[in-house]
Amino acid sequence: MVKRAVKNTLGIHRVGLMLYLGDLPIRVGGFHPLGTNEIIINRRLMKSPLDVRGKANIFTLLLHEYLHSLGYIDEREVRALTHQISAENFGNDHPVTRAAVVGPWPDVDMEEYGDTVEDMNLELIRDFERVESHYII
Ligand SMILES: [Zn+2]
Repeated sequence: MVKRAVKNTLGIHRVGLMLYLGDLPIRVGGFHPLGTNEIIINRRLMKSPLDVRGKANIFTLLLHEYLHSLGYIDEREVRALTHQISAENFGNDHPVTRAAVVGPWPDVDMEEYGDTVEDMNLELIRDFERVESHYII
């Protein structure tokens, strides 16, 4: 869905990405190490059970890091694009578009903000792009 939305709005697309979940400091949504094909999303921001808002937050985190992987480096530009892509594909009142504005942090306890993590416990999400390759065939 993230890739389709980006393709719709910006007309660009990338394959061969690897997605990892990791335990990152709570203030970090995720990151994309420059020059790699990796996207790491903060597992700690994925609270279960996944309601509509939880899913919208994951969409926003994935979209943000996917834009970085496409070569958008400036944070303000990425945030603006995340909102624009969400609004164009889902409409202004959709939870995804609201998540693009507020992010997952309103649900986070302020006391957790300064935390650090010892071990990211990276977990590779297998077959992350399998659905898409089926789709292309
Ligand atoms: Zn960023």
